[in-house]
Amino acid sequence: MFSALSDSLDKTFRNLRGVGKISEKNIADALREIRLALLEADVEFTVAKTFIEHVKEQAMGAEVLKSVKPGEQIVKIFHDELAELLGGDQVPLELEGEARILLCGLNGAGKTTTAGKLAGRLKREGRRPLLVACDLYRPAAIDQLATVASQVEVPVYTPDASETDVVKVATDALAWAATQPHDVVIFDTAGRQEIDERLVEELKRLHAFLSPGETLLVADAATGQGAVSVARHFDEAVSITGIILTKLDSDARGGAALSMRAVTGKPIKYVGEGEKLDQLFEFHPDRMADRILG
Ligand code: GDP
Repeated sequence: MFSALSDSLDKTFRNLRGVGKISEKNIADALREIRLALLEADVEFTVAKTFIEHVKEQAMGAEVLKSVKPGEQIVKIFHDELAELLGGDQVPLELEGEARILLCGLNGAGKTTTAGKLAGRLKREGRRPLLVACDLYRPAAIDQLATVASQVEVPVYTPDASETDVVKVATDALAWAATQPHDVVIFDTAGRQEIDERLVEELKRLHAFLSPGETLLVADAATGQGAVSVARHFDEAVSITGIILTKLDSDARGGAALSMRAVTGKPIKYVGEGEKLDQLFEFHPDRMADRILG
């Protein structure tokens, strides 16, 4: 991930460090290169522009130019701004009391896999999660959730194939949950190829009924700016509390990760980096900035 961006940054910063005495022109040239590299990584245009302006404001300061190692200082400014762009501090899940997590997203984004990954992760952290299948359109999705649930050894509620009302399923699932030891219930919902009215209506009803502490959008990083626009739409529909960005392992550009927070204002809480059920990781903006800088 970020391979092309990391390579261009490495080259730009190496050139900057190699200059004996840095001038404002050297900095302006470097920032132009970085802006292009960000756009090539599929970062949203206004996000890249604002980001470069922030770095420029600090990098052009007299203290930087007069400092012993101006190149190093500029790399540091860049790193810190990048961590800020990615969201600043890591944002943990809000799991107060008997917590409910609603997962939403488009088909193929990795929702069901992520439901299993998250349940497994919470279990390893000492919690007692339950999984609930709320996808009433694709029986295969219900079976798939049951499979991942058994792989991570977490109890799962699966509705009857005849069920058509998602709120009825959630009601029955909560009655079942009351008979199980648990402290968090994860609801996997139906996806679509694209966001349509029916999906939004159903999700809104389920969201209103459950009042979940966390409503997490599962978005495919490999779809770049598409993932950011999907996040905006889901946020308008049900006010998401965070994002799980999947398939970072197969996204060489990284634009979605870089633009997501700035465009939606919502934190990336986890990232998926592989198909295996233990490949879900907390998202730490500063560590990600380190990774991008190589
Ligand atoms: P859903 O339709 O949103 O429920 O998506 P699925 O959970 O069925 O996932 C769709 C495909 O993406 C499956 O082949 C998963 O194995 C794959 N997948 C999910 N998360 C990741 C990830 O982080 N990395 C990679 N490489 N594949 C993933």
